Amino acid sequence: MAGHMTPEEFRRYGRQVVDWIADYHERIASMPVLSQVKPGDVQDALPARPPEEGEGFEGVLADLERIVLPGVTHWQHPSFFAYFPSNTSGPAILGDLLSSGLGVQGMLWATSPACTEMETRVADWMVDLLGLPAAFRGNGVIQDSASSACLVALLAAVQRTGGSAARDGIDRRHTLYVSSQTHSSLEKAARITGIGSANVRVVDVDPGTLAMDPAHLDALLTEDAAAGAVPVMVCATVGTTSTTAVDPVPAIGEVCRGHGVWLHVDAAYAGVAAVCPEFRWVNDGLAEHADSYSTNPHKWLLTNFDCTLLWLADRAPMIEALSILPEYLRNQATTSGDVIDYRDWQIPLGRRFRALKLWSVIRWYGAEGLRAHIRAGARLADALASWIAADPAFEVRDHHPFGLVCFRPRWAGLAPDEADAATLALMERLNASGDLYLTHTRVGGRVLLRLAVGGPATEERHVRAAWDRIREEAARPTA
Ligand SMILES: *Cc1c(COP(=O)(O)O)cnc(C)c1O
Repeated sequence: MAGHMTPEEFRRYGRQVVDWIADYHERIASMPVLSQVKPGDVQDALPARPPEEGEGFEGVLADLERIVLPGVTHWQHPSFFAYFPSNTSGPAILGDLLSSGLGVQGMLWATSPACTEMETRVADWMVDLLGLPAAFRGNGVIQDSASSACLVALLAAVQRTGGSAARDGIDRRHTLYVSSQTHSSLEKAARITGIGSANVRVVDVDPGTLAMDPAHLDALLTEDAAAGAVPVMVCATVGTTSTTAVDPVPAIGEVCRGHGVWLHVDAAYAGVAAVCPEFRWVNDGLAEHADSYSTNPHKWLLTNFDCTLLWLADRAPMIEALSILPEYLRNQATTSGDVIDYRDWQIPLGRRFRALKLWSVIRWYGAEGLRAHIRAGARLADALASWIAADPAFEVRDHHPFGLVCFRPRWAGLAPDEADAATLALMERLNASGDLYLTHTRVGGRVLLRLAVGGPATEERHVRAAWDRIREEAARPTA
């Protein structure tokens, strides 16, 4: 038992694992969406000590079923409507398996040329598929997450402000510009870079659309520069996490240009919608103004986590900020300057062969298949919004251009605080039932339910059933 798994054994168990995954996807709809375990249940079911002697593989599959599965929230369930979707697909899973099978570590071009060159090519394919600016060609990289992409962009932006911060440390007050709707990873990036949370400047948003106000941004930048601060970066968002609000990138870009400030555009969720011509507007302003841009195929584009694309209009400041070449990594290809070493485009040194799964997905679906998937999600969200709008007991936010719909019961007769508590209690009951899973947000202080469509298994009947459950549960008298 103690030896390595032979190729013959790998074949046998590998088939079982692939069968298990296929069976899982076939029966997923019969499971409660949200895991019903209590804190500690899974740990208690796992032995406290590791085995001294190898046990083989059968037990792994048995325990997967017995211990792991009850502790899993089923993100691929057709009635998973929480957060944003985290799509997977057959070709993505197989591409990831191939990446594991090859087991390469692609930190340098020389450590696996195919890992680097396929990534550059696939990122260029995405420039075509999404209709992104030509300057992004050859300047794309796959990151583990949008959070990392924002951090890399911020480090590049710090570098561009003067060039010595990476070497000498930040010695003046640096500032970062976001709105109240910007993803929390930007504040985290400010902490990590040493800019500090206190120097994150929060630009006003329009109270209706929740879009960043470019005039207020301009005022803050002017005020800060006059006070001796170094404005580093503005982060605009296309499709905010809370409500999919869209910042006016062209107007924000004009302001950034006026002040010589880096513009990062975070389209983690919504950017991939540009695969459809009718969604190309999500790219407005990128060609003229964006210094960096990121979107996540691992949310709505059928590629399992982790796969975030980051592009830069000019990669030089990023590489100046992040490149360190110790003796043990020196090699001829790097020295020649003819190749990309993606270790200089990210925080860690090591990296997986992630391009394989995206390549598999694009080849399997083609542009047409990807468009059909985005359209299916957007169409279901439209249908849901129209059903909600037709029910006088509910109100729905008008803005739902993608797959997310935000709404709430009106709770006639309840004060705002009581109504919010009732909305949250309704959500808890629905999620505890296992029939569906949805999350919430707050807009103008008031609680809204968020229902995000976009999983490949989700059909109209699942959205209809969710809506029926929500209405029925909201109408039920409670204690
Ligand atoms: C989901 C999301 C992120 C974070 O994405 P990760 O890849 O999970 O780090 C960032 N920005 C926006 C707008 C998002 O919706």
